[in-house]
Amino acid sequence: MIHDFEYFAPKTLKEALALLDKYQDDCKVICGGQSLLVLMRQGLVAPPYMIDIKGISELSYIKDEKDGLKIGAITTHRAIEKSAVIKKKYPLLAKMETRLASIQTRNWGTIGGNVCHGDPAGDPAAVFIALGATFTMTGSKGKRSMPAEDFSLDYFETALEPGELLTEISVPPVPPKTGSAYYKFNVIESDLATASVAATVTLGAGDVCKDIRLALGASAPIPLRPKKAEAILKGKKITDALLKQAGEAAVKEAEPISDIYASEEYRRELIKVLVPRMTREAMDKAKKA
Ligand SMILES: Cc1cc2nc3c(=O)[nH]c(=O)nc-3n(C[C@H](O)[C@H](O)[C@H](O)COP(=O)(O)OP(=O)(O)OC[C@H]3O[C@@H](n4cnc5c(N)ncnc54)[C@H](O)[C@@H]3O)c2cc1C
Repeated sequence: MIHDFEYFAPKTLKEALALLDKYQDDCKVICGGQSLLVLMRQGLVAPPYMIDIKGISELSYIKDEKDGLKIGAITTHRAIEKSAVIKKKYPLLAKMETRLASIQTRNWGTIGGNVCHGDPAGDPAAVFIALGATFTMTGSKGKRSMPAEDFSLDYFETALEPGELLTEISVPPVPPKTGSAYYKFNVIESDLATASVAATVTLGAGDVCKDIRLALGASAPIPLRPKKAEAILKGKKITDALLKQAGEAAVKEAEPISDIYASEEYRRELIKVLVPRMTREAMDKAKKA
């Protein structure tokens, strides 16, 4: 049962931040409600004040700028999936969205709501880490930004401070000779990942791996960047043997759990297989880029 609450629907960011300052710990932000309402129905969250930010149109945009892609936090999953510029320049992002939940959920759910929910099994966080994205938060005292990989702190806990909203996600331009790949393994289609892996590879002269970013979903309390696995591949010509080593290193960095969808061992096996597979796919795309 959902408890009674007082509802506010600010139309500007300024109004929303003033409400957040006024009600502090007694209020909760809602956007598409696709994750929060589930928790409220279960009685796990029962705020006396709700601040609905879905009507703040200044936070809904997709802009292709010189220094990269800018996505406003209340942009829906469906808008990202359908964006012509994202399909052309950041196809991995659009493709990831096609397998996130159902069309109904993608129509209501927002990109900001997804990452602020802080579920390590969510799809966008891993992809944003692999793409080198930056998250911007705004509070009444100003703005601050951080790399996507620093945003999650623990299960369902993020770096957002009281009084702050996530306002923008920016993705840098894709360098030449760069390819990206993402795969989520799930048992029920349109559901969260059992485990997922995202990879971005940039090749240099002689197809040496100049740069690599890996990210694991549903494999630790946070969407994880396995840096030891990356170090095995960076600066080298990628071979099957190195890919195998990277997969094994990623397994050691991961901290998967057992739940109703899969055992810890099964998740480790998925990571071991998916890290080499996604890295190879990203590398093959980079060769053609
Ligand atoms: C049936 C179903 C299937 C799903 N499958 C998937 C899936 O396959 N992959 C996947 O990744 N997700 C999946 N989800 C999760 C869901 O799609 C996302 O979490 C959704 O995008 C959340 O966005 P929202 O706008 O609805 O957020 P809300 O539910 O409104 O809010 C979620 C949380 O974020 C906070 N919040 C929202 N916006 C902001 C902001 N701008 N700044 C600060 N805090 C904010 C809220 O306070 C709340 O804590 C699924 C959900 C459902 C219901």
